[in-house]
Amino acid sequence: MRGLVAEVAVAAPLDKPLSYLVEKALADSLRIGMRVKVPLGRRTAIGYVIAIRSGETDRLKPLLEVLGEEPLFPSGMVELLRRAADYYQYPLGEVIRTALPVGLSTGNEASVLMESHYQPAPKDGEPRGPRQRTLLAHLRRVSCASRTDLLALFPGCHASLKALVGQGFVLEEQRERLRDPFADLPPVADVRLAMTEAQKQVFAEVEQAMHAGGFAPMLLHGVTGSGKTEIYLRSIEKVLQAGRQALVLVPEIALTPQLVSRFRSRFAGDRVCLAVLHSGLSAGERFDAWRSVARGDVDIVIGARSAVFAPLGRLGMIVVDEEHESSYKQGDGFRYHARDLALMRGQMEGALVLLGSATPALTTFYRARQGKLAYLSLPERVLDRPLPDVELIDLGRERPEGILAQPLKQALLANLERGEQSLLLLNRRGFAPYLLCADCGNALRCPHCDITLTFYLSQKVLRCNYCDYRQPPPEQCPTCHGAALLPEGAGTERLEQELRDLLPTARIARMDRDTTGRKGAHQSLVTAMENRSIDVLVGTQMVAKGLDFPGVTLVGVAQTDNLLNLPDFRAAERTFTLLTQVAGRAGRGERPGRVYVQTYAPEHFSLACCARHDYLAFAREELRLRQELGYPPFGFLAHCVFSGTDRQQVESMAESLAEGLADAAIGLGVEILGPAPCPLARLRGKNRYQILLKAPLRPPLRHLLAHLARLRRILPRAVILTVDVDPLDM
Ligand code: ADP
Ligand code: ZN
Repeated sequence: MRGLVAEVAVAAPLDKPLSYLVEKALADSLRIGMRVKVPLGRRTAIGYVIAIRSGETDRLKPLLEVLGEEPLFPSGMVELLRRAADYYQYPLGEVIRTALPVGLSTGNEASVLMESHYQPAPKDGEPRGPRQRTLLAHLRRVSCASRTDLLALFPGCHASLKALVGQGFVLEEQRERLRDPFADLPPVADVRLAMTEAQKQVFAEVEQAMHAGGFAPMLLHGVTGSGKTEIYLRSIEKVLQAGRQALVLVPEIALTPQLVSRFRSRFAGDRVCLAVLHSGLSAGERFDAWRSVARGDVDIVIGARSAVFAPLGRLGMIVVDEEHESSYKQGDGFRYHARDLALMRGQMEGALVLLGSATPALTTFYRARQGKLAYLSLPERVLDRPLPDVELIDLGRERPEGILAQPLKQALLANLERGEQSLLLLNRRGFAPYLLCADCGNALRCPHCDITLTFYLSQKVLRCNYCDYRQPPPEQCPTCHGAALLPEGAGTERLEQELRDLLPTARIARMDRDTTGRKGAHQSLVTAMENRSIDVLVGTQMVAKGLDFPGVTLVGVAQTDNLLNLPDFRAAERTFTLLTQVAGRAGRGERPGRVYVQTYAPEHFSLACCARHDYLAFAREELRLRQELGYPPFGFLAHCVFSGTDRQQVESMAESLAEGLADAAIGLGVEILGPAPCPLARLRGKNRYQILLKAPLRPPLRHLLAHLARLRRILPRAVILTVDVDPLDM
């Protein structure tokens, strides 16, 4: 028999979407993009409708239930989701589940929030009580208000409201309340800046691409403080004028409050609806924001990584700010890169894609050099502000007693005396990364991971930064029972302490994951920096990210060697990027900035190039090295990690699959490296082995990954295989 068939991507690890019969009762309401309940074996599962067609229905099971009344994504997005699933070798249903906000992905429905709204009734006259009269006057003025708003304006007005409704002066109605997730961000006054000549030129190129129409991928390479944001704002204005929508991706909303504020103040006034999607939202807030986007009510979406899937139906432009940021890559499950998907999406929807950075990822820069992206450049800061002077301090020569060497200490003292602000970066949390036994030299290690425990002095605790295992510091060394356990190395806590000794009168604050855990804590540090009620801010990478503090004139980097020595082919790129970004925080205001970088390797090219502000020289040298080794952008990688509790079993399964891959790889030119223990060979109690696939071209790599998808079926349940296409962390 023929009938209506729905193709459903079930949120389960399946290779393919499944077909279900759509019974008459559901046929009218069913649309692509809807969430449904379907039978799967002996249980039921949640899935997403990706196609509806007529076809043979004899062997099909019926779809059980349609969840919700509206599609969660437009049908135009199905192709993007499919291609993403295919590219990253991940089940389509799981891809869609990752793309949707939590609460929608599981069976638990995030609720629609209903609330009483009040309107003046068409009844003449005035109520008696003065409170009631004020309330009614207000309602007549605004014509409708929610209970929450009224209670905020007129505290304790419950009784008066009730009386007004009772007397027929006011009508009460239940309406859906859209939760406003960013209502409490402080507004900034928007100044519409007259563009500099350089900005005008860049903007003209963007406009030209818009006129030409269609997919236009562009890299905006602009040094720190060159005014990239103004380009984003103006371009989006144009996009909206043309009746299309814009998507703005930022690395992490919580860490970029200033950018979000600038967007809000530029657009939120002019009846432009702007939605912010990010992980700090409650399930309900996300649900609200998502649905208003899906309905077409939103013109601009700002969000972190997963917002690349925002269900905009008339997308005209995607901005990816700080496109080099590694937080655009999802680290578990569906391991996609939001920038790469933004390009994919832009291509499919004929949109402009603007990637902005002062330190483009090398892969992005190379694409631009190949002509796959237009290259726009803002090589100077606005208003003739100079880039800061960068000085490298050779720790081998200076041999500081504590963390800070003399030149940096002096600069900090002088800066404080001048009343200017300083920023210090140390990319390690806690007091010290090791607690070391002075007698036997052993460091205390995590019992579940292959890593030393970090010592936190303030909480008197040892903590694993991977699995969060905690224990009190022992009295004696567990190996030799010696009593001299000493904190070795430096973390932000220790640096803060050293600074308090050096600058007893200074107002010092620390910004890292430990001090910003509470909601609003990061924002209050940002505000305090803006108000200049902090003299010195110490912190991890967090202080390097996209913040604009005009009062900062001195930046110090406490150490670089742990960055340079990471066992990762991207170590040099990471170092260059982080240092250039943090240096870029100095001298953004009227006074010029200086930067001191402490290092044992002052001759390293990534430091030397950073000191000269020479991205191009860095890229040239680093690209040469990558080409020699066949690493991205000259080769393509897939990283396979096997993990399980039984080390031998994990190892032997990794070996079997490697052999199977080797057979299939003959003649393909794909290198199979490993299996070998991962650099972090034990993590959260699991033993880990890795295989790295490396290919000069993408098609053979994809071919081999497809083969791996078949091979992996032989794995026992106890061994988990994760595949990471275009890995960033290995
Ligand atoms: P980037 O993102 O490139 O680091 P921003 O967009 O944050 O730079 O701009 C840096 C600073 O320069 C901001 O304080 C911004 O207000 C200011 N700015 C940008 N464009 C102009 C302009 N045309 N005239 C004056 N100031 C500008
Ligand atoms: Zn651990």
